Amino acid sequence: MTAFGTVFTDEMTISWNDGSGWSTPEFVPSNKLNIHPAAHVLHYSSTCFEGLKAFRHADGSIKIFRMDRNIARFAQSARLLHLPEIDANVTTRMIVDAVAKYADEVPEPPGSMYIRPTHMGTEPAVGKAAAPSVSSVQFVLLSPVGDYFSGGGEVALRVLLDEEGQRCAPHMGMVKSGGNYASALDPIMRAKAEHNAAQVLFCPNGDVQETGAANFILIDGNEVITKALDESFLHGVTRDSILTLARDRGMDVQERELSVEELLERAAKPGCEAALSGTAAVLTSVGTLLHNGKEYQVGDGKPGATTQALRKALNDIQWGLAEDNHGWLTTV
Ligand SMILES: *Cc1c(COP(=O)(O)O)cnc(C)c1O
Repeated sequence: MTAFGTVFTDEMTISWNDGSGWSTPEFVPSNKLNIHPAAHVLHYSSTCFEGLKAFRHADGSIKIFRMDRNIARFAQSARLLHLPEIDANVTTRMIVDAVAKYADEVPEPPGSMYIRPTHMGTEPAVGKAAAPSVSSVQFVLLSPVGDYFSGGGEVALRVLLDEEGQRCAPHMGMVKSGGNYASALDPIMRAKAEHNAAQVLFCPNGDVQETGAANFILIDGNEVITKALDESFLHGVTRDSILTLARDRGMDVQERELSVEELLERAAKPGCEAALSGTAAVLTSVGTLLHNGKEYQVGDGKPGATTQALRKALNDIQWGLAEDNHGWLTTV
């Protein structure tokens, strides 16, 4: 199978903003983008993106999951980067039109159509290191995908706890912006090379935060514990969905500070589970935590039953196998 996010539909939708508003969205070939080499984004990283999915239901209909949330976050990212304001109507239309045109290419579950709206500063001005781009472009790429982690969530990940570094500058945490991934890359590559870890769980000053591209959730019996929202990390739509489904099941959801100390203490208990949440990963079990040269198994080190059940509850809604009680699906 091809790697996640490397196959694209022939076309994408695109809209340009010259500083006075968005052009009417159009379809263009998805394999080229004409911007000036001095474009603001190429020098000063004025870029943000989203990741959401469309699913094929058994009746042949195509549904997009929580598009309103992703567009709201896209707009928030643009504001924090001082890019031209996103018009939710324009972006909605770009997403829906693209998915509708390529509906035949939306895979059957467990596959889906991964949707990647992207927005970047295009003003040709290398003198604007400390000033925003006046103009920008947004486009919506589509990529048919299978399961992100092969094994469909049956393998538990090895995760390194990092108390010294941080994923990105704290005031950039809520922005889904390219520079944040560049900032996290070196610690992740070192964790892979030196510890055979799949991911780094950033825990600045002992505060358990998130990994490079997913939120962290601890499940201890009936308790679900995850960091409360603040501006230092990315507010995942999957995180919010899983917490909602956990509350629906009567679980005790706690959004609060979680220290490395408490995490390691709880992880050792039988039945404790940990997971990473994100659109690509859905909900993927963490089996081993690496900290200061020691390895800590989470519960029995295998994917936990509650993690699997919550993942299934989410997938069932996405795939049309359970009632969409929260109104999370948009029909294309
Ligand atoms: C995208 C992302 C997430 C997960 O967000 P979802 O909306 O659930 O896909 C979490 N953390 C980071 C850093 C991310 O980039």
